[in-house]
Amino acid sequence: MAAGYDLAVVGAGIVGLGVALAAARKGKKVVVVERNAKAIGASIRNFGFVTITGQRAGAHWARAMRARDIWAEIVEEAGIPVIHRGLIMPARLEEAAVVLDAFLKTPMGEQCRLITSAEAADLVPALRLDAVKSTLYSPHELRVESSEALPKLATWLEHKHQVDFRWNTAVRSVNGTRVETSHGTIEAEAVAICPGDDFSTLFPNVIAAHPLTICTLQMLRVSPGQPTRFGAAVMSDMSLARYEGFAALPEAVALDRRLDAEEAESRAAGIHLIAVQSADGSLVVGDSHVYGNAQQPFAQERFDRLILDEFDRIFDCPDRHVVNRWIGTYASSAERTVLVERPADNVRIVMVTGGTGASTGFALGEQVADDLFSSVPVPQEA
Ligand SMILES: Cc1cc2nc3c(=O)[nH]c(=O)nc-3n(C[C@H](O)[C@H](O)[C@H](O)COP(=O)(O)OP(=O)(O)OC[C@H]3O[C@@H](n4cnc5c(N)ncnc54)[C@H](O)[C@@H]3O)c2cc1C
Repeated sequence: MAAGYDLAVVGAGIVGLGVALAAARKGKKVVVVERNAKAIGASIRNFGFVTITGQRAGAHWARAMRARDIWAEIVEEAGIPVIHRGLIMPARLEEAAVVLDAFLKTPMGEQCRLITSAEAADLVPALRLDAVKSTLYSPHELRVESSEALPKLATWLEHKHQVDFRWNTAVRSVNGTRVETSHGTIEAEAVAICPGDDFSTLFPNVIAAHPLTICTLQMLRVSPGQPTRFGAAVMSDMSLARYEGFAALPEAVALDRRLDAEEAESRAAGIHLIAVQSADGSLVVGDSHVYGNAQQPFAQERFDRLILDEFDRIFDCPDRHVVNRWIGTYASSAERTVLVERPADNVRIVMVTGGTGASTGFALGEQVADDLFSSVPVPQEA
């Protein structure tokens, strides 16, 4: 039997690493157990876009703010470059500009502002600004390259916080303090199961009590053709109708109706636009959202075309071309943004169920560690 731990974390995605970090900061001895040789799930397939503006108002927005602060605290020490900061949302439709105005009047809009076309062009020269009604700037966001950030985080946790990692090790069951794995038993006082979209291996009945689906997304890496600079992430009108911090505002109803009428095909594919830049100048562009009871294995060329149509409406990148396409999946719930279940006093199942784990995983990790080690319950949804 392996040495005893205060905490065993199942899953080395961003949520598992968030719980591991929070527990290690409390002085706990932590082991992370991951079935693959490295994280290969949603946590390395995403935009690496730590998003605040647009998150559901209340507890989840606060979680994103806290998680962003934790990212900011650790990136330098962990050797993770922040590629750009902030977010620009150019409103092309009148109805979208109305949503931006309404958002600015909410507490979430306090540090955001409308910027001039000249300011927007200065931040992201490739933006097409001729038909834009108004542009929101949010200062809160960070962008990291997740496929590089996740391995660096694991290495940093190992060296700085003495977190042990067991790669290529599947957890088969958890019985009290015994974590049964494909490579033997680990003893741990507490267990945090952060399984991503694996609903069937550990406590499947507990997970099945919740109406979860699997969301499949398509993503693209685009070379802009000619060098261009993104000084912030960019989202479009369609994002205003998807992200709950905007979409739940009464003023979003008219935008929703107009997009349904004019962009029916994109809306049916759950498409909106996020574009962020990588260190080599290429752009990560997405995405589509299809919900079902299983991952969708086959990418649809039609979805990529619709994403690129929206990209071309927002940006002037004449020689752009796709250099990479991939699919990602995450656990999704129509009601809740996170799910924390307690199958036993010392065990928590932890999921981000709204596609926002890069933005909130670190803060959720703190909440789960507080729950397990300090008896402070995880705040419920607003
Ligand atoms: C295409 C895409 C774009 C996204 N964009 C963003 C974004 O820009 N911003 C944002 O905030 N969020 C974004 N998200 C959402 C975010 O990536 C997820 O919410 C987050 O990565 C979920 O993290 P996780 O650790 O729960 O899951 P995962 O990253 O899937 O990790 C779970 C891990 O658990 C392991 N595991 C499961 N069961 C076991 C077991 N029994 N034994 C051992 N190991 C096990 C798996 O192998 C896996 O490595 C995006 C997601 C996708 C797919």
